[in-house]
Amino acid sequence: MTTALDLLIRGGEVLLPDGLHRVDLGLAEGRVAGLYAPGTAPEAAERIDAAGLTALPGIVDIHFHVRAPAYPERGTVQSETRAAAAGGVTTLFEMPISKPCCSTPGELARRRDHFAGNAVIDFALYAAPGDLTETSRDAMTEIGCIAWKIFTTAPPPGRGDEFDGLAFPDEADQMRALQLLAATGLPVVVHAESAPLLAHFAQAAAALDPADAATHGASRPAICEAVAVARLLTMNMTAGAKLHIAHVTSAETVAVLRAFAGTSDFTAETCPQYLFATEADVARAGVYAKVNPPIRTQADQDALWQAIADGIIDYVTTDHAPFALAEKRAAEGDFPAAPPGVPGIEFILPAMLDAVAAGRLSLKRAHDLICANGARRYGLYPFKGALLPGSAADVTLVDLAGETSLSPETMHSHAREVAHLFAGRRLRGRVRRTILRGHTVFLDGSVTGRPGGGAFVTPRAAC
Ligand SMILES: [Zn+2]
Repeated sequence: MTTALDLLIRGGEVLLPDGLHRVDLGLAEGRVAGLYAPGTAPEAAERIDAAGLTALPGIVDIHFHVRAPAYPERGTVQSETRAAAAGGVTTLFEMPISKPCCSTPGELARRRDHFAGNAVIDFALYAAPGDLTETSRDAMTEIGCIAWKIFTTAPPPGRGDEFDGLAFPDEADQMRALQLLAATGLPVVVHAESAPLLAHFAQAAAALDPADAATHGASRPAICEAVAVARLLTMNMTAGAKLHIAHVTSAETVAVLRAFAGTSDFTAETCPQYLFATEADVARAGVYAKVNPPIRTQADQDALWQAIADGIIDYVTTDHAPFALAEKRAAEGDFPAAPPGVPGIEFILPAMLDAVAAGRLSLKRAHDLICANGARRYGLYPFKGALLPGSAADVTLVDLAGETSLSPETMHSHAREVAHLFAGRRLRGRVRRTILRGHTVFLDGSVTGRPGGGAFVTPRAAC
């Protein structure tokens, strides 16, 4: 290549698809221009000395909630994409829960425009299948939804409009949705908990102490998840959708995934809250650590790590879900009433780097779990998820020997005051700089990206 580079990242290591290499990374016009043996790169307008640092493909989080433009008091596209940039994330996939639900072409287009004007990093949007018609499905596909999302649960009380066209507790509707969406070739992500079993256990848990963290677990035990997953995987043997099971939490569900291996095109994810916390942490953090499905036992956590080691679970996502301090605080001591969700976008990469430092998995496997595998599953690879010539110039520079200590003072999420589950942890590994399509959006504690700098990512983006 003879053209000059916009930016040269030199002196560090770069994570390539086959592992770490000591090469210099050249960026031009928003793409990776080339990889060069140290000292052999062409002229560059700007240089970054990355000695001692490791360049990763910018993280792609395929499970994220900000809910905007609804509920700005919980966090906005600006605040939560700034937090994402600080966490080394360059692309996020926003789930369709909003008010109203993102289950119509009009709402999808409205959200696209809202995010485009505010996002600091790249974003993709899920759609819910809404009225389950081909007309609506095709219109949302045309707009460029990245994938589909459904729940097998009933809408939470009082939140019907947020789940309209998203929640399908009826099994026949689940089958119709899988069959309708299979034809698009886009992933169908399912929040899987059995609605009848949830109703059954909620009744039993109503007699328990609402302040006890164990009450939440008892109201949604692992069997609810495992049964729903087994039914979906059985249906998918006929429906043939590109199925993806969201946030797996339990040993029972891992056993189901193992038993169904190879029966259809399905994948599964878990989240840092299930890999790095147990019900003991929920007891400590209280309703601030309430999530659905619940955080479970050490044995469940062990089963999830084993599933990752065995390739049964190949994705780790944040399920980032910010809430206002007032909302969580108002429900202190009342697990059934507390809103479910934790803000994890600034935790996921340092947490996985800490697991690498602990010898739990390789850096390449950790990165595959939180980035490259998602980019592949959603058809964006190697435009996203890799640093190969032609890939997006999305780079996260990390200091593997550094340390991250999350607290309300250091976090950027609007929900930092409710991040009790992750705050105070000291993690080995630190995000130093985040680069989005060649532009630095985060540097040493400060977000430098501008609102509107992020682009709408569709399944066609890889072309
Ligand atoms: Zn979620």
